[in-house]
Amino acid sequence: MSNPSILILPGDGIGPEVMDQVIRVIDWYGAKRDLAFDVSTDLVGGAAYDAHGVPLHDDTMARAQEVDAVLLGAVGGPAYDDLDFSVKPERGLLRLRKEMDLFSNLRPAQCFDALADFSSLKKDIVAGLDIMIVRELTSGVYFGEPRGIFEEGNERVGINTQRYTESEIERAARSAFELAMRRNKKVCSMEKANVMESGILWREVVTRVGADYPEVELSHMYADNGAMQLVRAPKQFDVIVTDNLFGDILSDCAAMLTGSLGMLPSASLGAPMANGRPKAMYEPVHGSAPDIAGQGKANPIACMLSFAMALRYSFDQGDEAARLETAIEKVLADGARTADLMGPEGGTPLSTSEMGDAILAALDASV
Ligand code: NAD
Repeated sequence: MSNPSILILPGDGIGPEVMDQVIRVIDWYGAKRDLAFDVSTDLVGGAAYDAHGVPLHDDTMARAQEVDAVLLGAVGGPAYDDLDFSVKPERGLLRLRKEMDLFSNLRPAQCFDALADFSSLKKDIVAGLDIMIVRELTSGVYFGEPRGIFEEGNERVGINTQRYTESEIERAARSAFELAMRRNKKVCSMEKANVMESGILWREVVTRVGADYPEVELSHMYADNGAMQLVRAPKQFDVIVTDNLFGDILSDCAAMLTGSLGMLPSASLGAPMANGRPKAMYEPVHGSAPDIAGQGKANPIACMLSFAMALRYSFDQGDEAARLETAIEKVLADGARTADLMGPEGGTPLSTSEMGDAILAALDASV
């Protein structure tokens, strides 16, 4: 049987720098865990624009549809800020998400004990935090029609439409329940059923899907209360499922509970392919960080944790994902820090590749 395939799209800025460290980890799994992947690499974002005049070449798009998982670094940068909207680096990313129909966006908010002091909340509120936000990614108010700015009488009116079909809600809900089954078996659905019809339908459909998962405890919360609860007592949650707009806001809010942008992974999943694996793209939440690009300062952990998510959700290698997460936790507990993780006490930060060295050494020690 052939190895599972991964398409790596390092992108721009610090994207290639952090991805280099992930490639070392992927190679480590092939050499030390008999878990080899067929890895190919291609261009996205500004790098693709420089080479082809478009932020994603059709051939790259076709390859992304064929592989078992896409791993993306980051796109964008000041050199591309003045490009026409249609060829901006971000359009490459949006095309991947849209054409792969990645409707379920998974954003974990996990607080490593060693970094609990980095949170803006009190340590005891976030220490040990481990929640997952499932955001519906391809519908809702960002896509609904009608939309636009129209003349109405003697002034203009801006219109966006929140629109959800039952099947769109159902597939997002199902992915949340499936996740909860692998975690602590709790789903909290967030909407505004008190003031929005789409919220009433959302609640109805999530409840219906929940009946297929009797082991999972389902609760519902208005999204505004959800935002308050996330900063008041975030550990009450396991999996949160919500729509595109609320998910955008709530996942950023939850992410910041954990400290640095350099620590946050994400996964975007679509429907199962013929081999049973979901269409999938994994990427750190951060951007191309032009302010530190090329200086060897970037924290590679968010990108590494994104690969850990690929191990878990695309390749059914939960134990190996946990091995990588534990190695990262260990180096942080031992005091390894890139510049973004330096506290007021100071010290000498590790470079991107030195952090990679430390994590590979911890992986070596784990076998
Ligand atoms: P950014 O995430 O690139 O950077 C924000 C801040 O966080 C910067 O100070 C940066 O140095 C720091 N930072 C980010 N990742 C880090 C890491 N791994 N290690 C250490 N520090 C890190 O956001 P921005 O500055 O708003 O955007 C820069 C560019 O990235 C823009 O062109 C933007 O459009 C693009 N962007 C791309 C994505 C993506 O590819 N998914 C996401 C957000 C922004």
